[in-house]
Amino acid sequence: MSRYTGPVCRLCRRETASSKTGEKIKLFLKGDRCLSKKCAVERRGTAPGQKTQGKPTRQKISEYGRQLREKQKMRRYYGVHETQFENYFREAARVPGQTGKTFLQYLERRLDNVVYRMNLASSRAQARQLVTHRHFRVNGRLVNIPSYLVKAGDVVTIGERSKQSPIILSNLEYVKARPHPEWLEWNDQDMALKVSALPSREQIDTPVDEQLIVEYYSR
Ligand code: SF4
Repeated sequence: MSRYTGPVCRLCRRETASSKTGEKIKLFLKGDRCLSKKCAVERRGTAPGQKTQGKPTRQKISEYGRQLREKQKMRRYYGVHETQFENYFREAARVPGQTGKTFLQYLERRLDNVVYRMNLASSRAQARQLVTHRHFRVNGRLVNIPSYLVKAGDVVTIGERSKQSPIILSNLEYVKARPHPEWLEWNDQDMALKVSALPSREQIDTPVDEQLIVEYYSR
């Protein structure tokens, strides 16, 4: 499946327009712009191509439609391809316990997500690029695969040369200035992040109803 290369804000506007509660759903795909007034969800709450000037349409949506939208929202949030996304679900379904929670944990454990959650990158797309460009080590070993799954106890460090990289240096300012999840710890002296535990559902702030996605794949 080919990668989406169009304007990513359209993806956010699509999810916001389909929200039943009228809640502004942000996928945070554009880094700092998402937190500014320039955010397209803040400026326009309509779906792409819709000409209702800020008034969301009241389209009737089927149960299947709701499940599909939820699945698309979560896939776009984490920036994962369809096949890989489905593979995470199949893996999660094999693990005893709540499939939805395990599924979310798989996505949270991705190295690009961990780097983003710790504010070492302004977006998941930038985190993916930084990982691919060999800026990080996991337990001392170079890892340049964004989908690498970290485990509890893993330590992610920045490569020696990368500590001088302007983009890393500028992102380091946000590590302390912005909040990060409780399940990640930052060691300023070693410039290292530790995965202290796998996240519980309450610690994952992804705005999805994972049960709908479980139902989508269980059809
Ligand atoms: Fe979504 Fe960010 Fe674009 Fe706002 S700026 S619409 S949050 S991607």
